[in-house]
Parts: sequence; C-alpha cells; structure tokens
Amino acid sequence: MIDLNELEKQFLAAHVKSGGVAVDFTMGNGNDTRWLSDAVGLGGQVYAFDIQPQALEKTRALLTASGCADNYTLILDSHANVRDYVTEPICAGVFNLGYLPGSDKKVTTLRPSTLAAVTAAVELLDRDGIILIAVYPGHAEGEAEGRMLDEALAVYDRRSYTVSKFRIINSPTSPYFFCVESRA
Ligand code: SAM
Repeated sequence: MIDLNELEKQFLAAHVKSGGVAVDFTMGNGNDTRWLSDAVGLGGQVYAFDIQPQALEKTRALLTASGCADNYTLILDSHANVRDYVTEPICAGVFNLGYLPGSDKKVTTLRPSTLAAVTAAVELLDRDGIILIAVYPGHAEGEAEGRMLDEALAVYDRRSYTVSKFRIINSPTSPYFFCVESRA
C-alpha cells in the first residue's frame, strides 16, 4: 500500500531544485524543514515559520543534530506574514496544518491565516514549483480548513496550475493533501 507521506515526498522531489528557495510554512518539530534543507542543498535556502518558540527550539536542535547545511532561516511569526520575509520565487512550499503532536491542541492553524499564507505561497511560486498542503480532518478546525481549501484552490486557472487532492475516501478522518503545481 502506498503511504501518503511517501507520496507527498515524491511530489515534492519532482519540483524541488538544488540551489532553490523553499518554505516550510508550519515548522513544528522540523521534519519538513530538514527534508527541504537536504533537498535544496548548500546553495539553496529554506525559510521556516512557526508561532511557537518551542517549534524553533526543536527544529534548530534537529537540524544541528542531523548535520544539515547552513541554509535555513527559522522565523517566529505567522506564515500569513511570509511576504515580509521571502521575496524570491520559491520552488516548493509545505504546509502541515493542525497542531503540534504532543503539544497544546489549542495552538492550531486557523482558516484566516492559512488562507492568507496559501494565497501568498501560490503568488511566490516559481515556474515548475509546488505547494503541498497536508490537512488533518480529524478535528473540527482541520475539517473546516479542508473545506475552505477545496473552494479556494478550485479557482486557480488550469492553464497555469494543476491543483490536485489525494484522499483515502473510505477513511474520512485520515489526513490528506492538496498539491498546487505550477506549469514549467
Ligand atoms: N511539519 C511539522 C513537523 O515536521 O514536525 C509539523 C507541523 S504541526 C502539524 C503544525 C504547526 O503549525 C504547529 O507547530 C503550530 O504551532 C504551527 N502553526 C499554527 N499556526 C501557525 C501560523 N499562523 N503560522 C505558522 N505556524 C503555525
């Protein structure tokens, strides 16, 4: 059986460029930041956002312990403010919505800031790039974020973007993901 996490990485790997700029919009424990840091390599740059100081601490510890290249900037701010920090076109952006596992479930991503960040992410996307958004419908806000994204992402012009959704339809509370891929 294909693992959705593996599938996400296959999509990302098809677009991430060595030497490119990537954004982790929800840093959390830093797993996606680490993956992106390895993927863009020494000549690339990863910007990672979270609103919780503990996420920056955990991510910095993970990246240091993993011997990652010095190619990342960890930012304590809402991803809705991405434009204040990132001006270059990006080859990849990753959202892992929801709350940090093992942490305060009240600190979760929310529709208004998620929509602002996703909109900015698509605007920043370079040609042949990808925005990947993982959704967790097992809690109320996650379910609502997914419905919001269904509507918001459907309006992008198909001549410029392919927008897809990967969901296990016989397991409605399982995580699923959207991809926004820009044309080469
Ligand atoms: N990708 C992470 C990893 O690899 O460990 C997991 C991310 S976790 C599911 C979601 C994260 O989004 C939490 O750490 C939470 O603090 C963060 N978050 C919530 N609202 C945010 C916002 N407005 N801007 C940036 N991060 C936010």
